[in-house]
Amino acid sequence: MIQENLTTINNRILAAEKKSHRAAGSVKLIAVSKKQSHEKIREAFLAGQTAFAENYAQEAIAKQSLLPDLKIEWHFIGTIQSNKTKLIATYFDWVHSVSRFEIAEKLNQYREMMQKPLNICIEVNIDCEPSKSGIAPEDVLPLAKKIILLKNLRLRGLMVIPEKNNAHAFEKTAALQKKLMQAGLLLDTLSMGMSDDFEKAIQAGSTLVRIGTAIFGER
Ligand SMILES: *Cc1c(COP(=O)(O)O)cnc(C)c1O
Repeated sequence: MIQENLTTINNRILAAEKKSHRAAGSVKLIAVSKKQSHEKIREAFLAGQTAFAENYAQEAIAKQSLLPDLKIEWHFIGTIQSNKTKLIATYFDWVHSVSRFEIAEKLNQYREMMQKPLNICIEVNIDCEPSKSGIAPEDVLPLAKKIILLKNLRLRGLMVIPEKNNAHAFEKTAALQKKLMQAGLLLDTLSMGMSDDFEKAIQAGSTLVRIGTAIFGER
């Protein structure tokens, strides 16, 4: 089932790339494995999926310890509590949900010099919805300028989780990314799109789609 779902999703990504005149392979699939077992992660890996995302540090690390033989790229996409920054900086390759400088500083501090820099996306609350996580669009550039000075981090781009009824959130995020690049930042990543909306996100320029339910089923 997981294997078939992955094939379906990969074909849909390919079709969406083609439809928006983007190169095949320009969008990377990240399998969101929160609340899924390590057995299911292994099954997806054996079907060719190598990048996985988790929302809870301890849950993720427990599963990682059961998958030591698999060369997985791990992405953290959940809310970051200050007291989890050491675990996150140590056990992940990417963090998509940075929206405060104090958190970035802690991740930088705990990322050991021996490891490769930690890849970072700034989570943006693109329509300034009061209930949502992420930083306001106008505050992104000042935060980005501070993050690029942290030598154990590598700022890659923006992440967004829009509400379902949120028209043009993906386009707005892509436009904000463009503005940051015009301001001199070297960014190559737009983390946007989930099971229900990834084709729209690809149309708007997403480079990483985070998909859980459509691969693993309901959580
Ligand atoms: C859970 C989650 C996803 C995956 O959502 P699905 O609808 O299951 O594809 C993507 N991004 C974030 C930040 C999540 O928390």
